Amino acid sequence: MRQRTFSIIKPDAVRNGATGAILAEIDKAAFRIVAIRKQTISKPQAEGFYAVHQGKPFFDGLCDFMSSGPLVLMVLEKENAIADLRKLMGATNPANAEEGTIRKRFAASIQENAIHGSDGEDTAAFEIGYWFAGYELI
Ligand code: ATP
Ligand code: MG
Repeated sequence: MRQRTFSIIKPDAVRNGATGAILAEIDKAAFRIVAIRKQTISKPQAEGFYAVHQGKPFFDGLCDFMSSGPLVLMVLEKENAIADLRKLMGATNPANAEEGTIRKRFAASIQENAIHGSDGEDTAAFEIGYWFAGYELI
């Protein structure tokens, strides 16, 4: 089933100059880039995006980090996009990420972990709609 997912190249990876290398991995894995935009988001925008994590001990630090510099917002499409992107990303904590995954290669810590990917169909729909308008998703 052809499917869409939402991804972010996080501020740490953009700062470290890894944007191009991560886009190359995404391309190599045969995702179609439906939409892409580099921007700096505000802390309230980050809080709304990560609302499911509100109340967790890492929430405030996570939202500070996500609003700390430019990031790259993307909508990606392929067969099994959601699960395939999660696999390409690797575990949340890069220390546990498999060899060859994006987080293994580019992430420094459990917070500054280079990339985001939606974890299910419902969250993908919410996240795509949070950052992109329908007319941008052609
Ligand atoms: P993402 O949602 O960004 O794709 P994920 O689904 O692998 O990552 P989540 O559990 O949804 O992980 O956590 C969201 C983000 O919050 C993580 O990617 C990471 O940046 C941060 N985070 C998660 N757990 C911790 C923690 N224990 N300490 C610091 N930051 C954390
Ligand atoms: Mg998540």
